[in-house]
Amino acid sequence: MVFRALIDPAATGGVGVAFTDRDGALPTASASDLVRESSGWLRVDARADLGVARWRGLGFHEVVGVDQVHGDAVVVVDERLIADGVSELPRADALVSRLPGVGLVIRTADCLPVALADPHAGVVGVAHAGRRGLDVGVLARTVSVMRGLGARRLRAWIGPGICAQCYEVDAPLADEFVARHPLARATTRWGTPALDLLGVALGQLADAGVEVEVIPGCTREDADLFSHRRDGAAAGRQAAIAWLMVPGGASAGPADS
Ligand SMILES: [Zn+2]
Repeated sequence: MVFRALIDPAATGGVGVAFTDRDGALPTASASDLVRESSGWLRVDARADLGVARWRGLGFHEVVGVDQVHGDAVVVVDERLIADGVSELPRADALVSRLPGVGLVIRTADCLPVALADPHAGVVGVAHAGRRGLDVGVLARTVSVMRGLGARRLRAWIGPGICAQCYEVDAPLADEFVARHPLARATTRWGTPALDLLGVALGQLADAGVEVEVIPGCTREDADLFSHRRDGAAAGRQAAIAWLMVPGGASAGPADS
């Protein structure tokens, strides 16, 4: 496998979404491996040595990522940013764009990867939403920036993260988080305090008027997915990619998987 889920732009009215598994992911946890071309961004065809070679044929020619820091900053990827490139990755946890053919990437290994789009308005986004990101409102912030770019009717796809029955936290942290986010209340399969990140994300997206599709799976339980909890700090990262189809361009379908 390479993709845990692949949403064909032809089926959405022009927005593609891909969630990779262990085979399709980037080889390491390091953001510097994602983007180190002279421009700072990465062209899909230029880096056959990375896992992105498997992303060829999906309908985007450029891949942009960020240095994820569990915050709520959103990078707007526009023509100028693509043309100028970056000397180092922006510190942010979401990317949004109106540019066709640009793959927006978020990397995760237990946190929730969220892709968002208004295909009709031609606005797409991705967000990295773990406990801290959900707490500071990265999803609401991403939705707000997308609406500022013209999005009206937003839909979202949430890829696999750690499930509520696996995401154990100590009792004080659970109490503190649940006080702010009641939907997070959960218990592990073995009876200790836990947090339901997916429940919180669904609540926040519903509040923002976003229709959501959930890709099933738990990163900690599924050996085909990377898990920070299970594999430790050196765990790899699966990628969530969202892009706008180039008008008249090819539909989704990996070239060689
Ligand atoms: Zn689980």
